[in-house]
Amino acid sequence: MPGPYDLTRDELARLLEGEPAYRARQVWDGLPARVQRPAEMTELPPPLRASLETALPPALREVSRRSADGGQTTKWLWALEGGARVETVLMHYHDRVTVCVSTQAGCAMACQFCATGQAGFQRHLSEGEIVEQVAAAMRAARPRRLSNVVFMGMGEPLANYDRVWGAVVRLHGAMGLSARHLTLSTVGMVPGIRRLATESLPVNLAVSLHAANDALRDELVPVNRRYPLRELADACAAYVAASGRRLSIEWALIDGVNDRGGDAAELAVFARPLAAHVNLIPLNPTPGYAVVGSPPARVRRFRDQLTDLGVNATIRVTRGVEIDAACGQLAASAPRPPAGADGVRLVPGRRGR
Ligand code: SAH
Repeated sequence: MPGPYDLTRDELARLLEGEPAYRARQVWDGLPARVQRPAEMTELPPPLRASLETALPPALREVSRRSADGGQTTKWLWALEGGARVETVLMHYHDRVTVCVSTQAGCAMACQFCATGQAGFQRHLSEGEIVEQVAAAMRAARPRRLSNVVFMGMGEPLANYDRVWGAVVRLHGAMGLSARHLTLSTVGMVPGIRRLATESLPVNLAVSLHAANDALRDELVPVNRRYPLRELADACAAYVAASGRRLSIEWALIDGVNDRGGDAAELAVFARPLAAHVNLIPLNPTPGYAVVGSPPARVRRFRDQLTDLGVNATIRVTRGVEIDAACGQLAASAPRPPAGADGVRLVPGRRGR
């Protein structure tokens, strides 16, 4: 059964057969624009509300919700139809409210240092499952308005292109988010980047680079063996030219691996012609990768080296580390249940933490 945000207009019309025609519009508009559950649509007669509530159960079942950073960061663990689990992270900043959504359960890209990559691929999320994460965040953010969506949760967005792009169009149209506040992040799927360059909505593009020489990147981000740096740079240039948006480069600083002066110099050679902005993220700990993040002084030195080389770089403030909600830590393992809680049933065979 599709979730409420996967429903097509025709499917909704069929559900509402026998009702006046304007009902379909009320529900169609109300679901995304006001992010309402059918039970909250007070303009509908109560029996219809009740029957729609039963006919359109949420696609995401909340398994747990945890918060950190003094309530400024919230992480949900959701169970999807079929048992897969994904996470969503909501972050309040003084000037914006951002949600980080998952696009796949697991990930096939196998980046060694990323908890999602360590766990492997389970399945693609549907368009509605992606949109519903944003809807949940919009509701939880109130009275503040959710302003930004980053496709930086579990999964590789450009490996699930059609559904992700469908969600982008929905978020932009029916849910009123501006394209400049939507960011797709990719390991560097060149065909996806080239396709993005043909779309009419100029969303932001972030590329998770982490290494700017092919030998090291082949190791850290295995998809580089298929789409090496030269091809990636060309595709990024095409996107920047087509969209007019500034490119971001994500760089997780790994102690002694990609945080030396030579690494900064290689990164500068890649970033400068693209006029890209570099986000530096000290590597967050994950269960399957032994090397640690660069110490704060090295992170600052790396930033300064980039600045001296004419590259715009900022150090990203990490959110949610203590609830494993930070970059690269999303793995959809069940949280340790607090004493006395009824406990979350672990899916057999899933890796715990
Ligand atoms: N697959 C996409 C979307 C995920 S975004 C992509 O890779 O871009 C998640 C971001 O966190 C990526 O930039 C990823 O490289 C980064 N990341 C992964 N593991 C990390 C870790 N352990 N510490 C810090 N950042 C990490």
